[in-house]
Amino acid sequence: MNEIQRTKSSGVKPTPKEHLERMRKGMTEATYQPPDLRKAKKRLKQDVMVHYDFQIPLDMQKIGINKHYYIRTYGCQMNEHDTEVMAGLLTSMGFTQTDKMSQADVILLNTCAIRENAENKVFGELGHLKPLKKENPDVIVGICGCMSQEEAVVHRIMRKHPFVDMIFGTHNIHRLPHLLKEAMFQKAMVVEVWSKEGDIIENLPKVRKGHLKAWVNIMYGCDKFCTYCIVPYTRGKERSRMPEDIIQEVKQLAQEGYKEVTLLGQNVNAYGKDLAFDYSLGHLMDELRLIDIPRIRFTTSHPKDFDDHLIDILAKGKNLLHHIHLPVQSGSSDILRVMARRHTREDYLTLVKKIQAKIPNVTLTTDIIVGFPNETDEQFEETLSLVRTVGFEHAFTFIYSPREGTPAARWKDTTPMEVKKSRLQRLNTLVNQQSKQAMEKYINQVVDVLVEGESRKNEAVLAGYTEQNKLVNFKAPKHLIGQIVPVKITEAKTWSLYGEWVTE
Ligand code: SF4
Repeated sequence: MNEIQRTKSSGVKPTPKEHLERMRKGMTEATYQPPDLRKAKKRLKQDVMVHYDFQIPLDMQKIGINKHYYIRTYGCQMNEHDTEVMAGLLTSMGFTQTDKMSQADVILLNTCAIRENAENKVFGELGHLKPLKKENPDVIVGICGCMSQEEAVVHRIMRKHPFVDMIFGTHNIHRLPHLLKEAMFQKAMVVEVWSKEGDIIENLPKVRKGHLKAWVNIMYGCDKFCTYCIVPYTRGKERSRMPEDIIQEVKQLAQEGYKEVTLLGQNVNAYGKDLAFDYSLGHLMDELRLIDIPRIRFTTSHPKDFDDHLIDILAKGKNLLHHIHLPVQSGSSDILRVMARRHTREDYLTLVKKIQAKIPNVTLTTDIIVGFPNETDEQFEETLSLVRTVGFEHAFTFIYSPREGTPAARWKDTTPMEVKKSRLQRLNTLVNQQSKQAMEKYINQVVDVLVEGESRKNEAVLAGYTEQNKLVNFKAPKHLIGQIVPVKITEAKTWSLYGEWVTE
């Protein structure tokens, strides 16, 4: 079987106006396919296909011999994992990875669009790349990832950074060998960004980072359209991989000796909703827990889709870790409503109570946005009170950053930046206090640590993570790297623990 239909295909042709515009600019169909946020918002009911027959074109299979590639990754784990796929594609074409940009023949910037700050970093890097390209005109510079899915960004790169050779989107990663060929042999900039999500390609090669922890995509895209978020536009509609493909991948990782798998998706709790049969994340976790791999996590969750069945399955424990990252974004129901989060403060607290009742030792962490347009002091106080009530042990906290093309970016915002900054500071102080308190609970306890390597600050010390994702530093022989070992905690800091290896 080379492909199966689980959703219908959705090719989007350019409008006649777009076609004329391309003709006028002298750009061929093959070299110019720009993004369109309006099209990206549409959710078609049609199926996408799952393909099992991906191949690198014959004439590209050795193109990279004696050449190097360099990929810089910005943003989330989804991007990190996309980089692993691009590394796999380039390796299959004969390229060798390098850590030195100056040594590379192909340079890819895998970008993030979640906040303005992330985008500015990429534009800064492009500024540095210009002299390198001038010195070595044969080097291929490519921009990919979420920023490439934004019209304004693509136009800015074309206008201000014409030395870039390729721009391709998150739905076009499997097309990298073809795009690279065009970039190498044509003089025009290659732009290919499908606004509608493509099919699911199952057998793409990957070069994973490390041999202990692996990311496994279980689904792509998001249909929630929170009013501040660009992801549903850049990553397309929700598409779940077939369960058997995920189970097979995790089994394979277990055989290869991986110790931890993190299931990835923008909203993993929506897993299975688009499948033609009754199957959810709970069903998947129930099957995965039978695989002989010590640790299974998932990220990221949406409270609306977190169902009772999943809680029951997680409560079974074993290799399903009791650490849940559950983004709340705000503690105010009014703010959550304008964010279009589809849950209230009360819904969230009810869900947390259910989770804590069934999984008493659960560690909860979250994401919070402060200074959403027109957030009042009272609404911010509700966020602080929710953080205290739930007892989050860690939170990723951000000041709201408007994203062009999203509804919230069009709203007038009367809250001054100084107020937002001071709210962020107060929130961080509270989160840090709670983190420290949570860390202190571990003193004198023996915890299992997956030893990842030497500590970054001290070669004589080993570092690894507990099941709750707490960083532990301890002195022990290097042969423990790669193992899960018991460590007795002797000291707690805000973000890390110190301990002693328990030899017996
Ligand atoms: S659920 Fe997450 S990824 Fe989806 S729109 Fe909301 S914030 Fe963005």
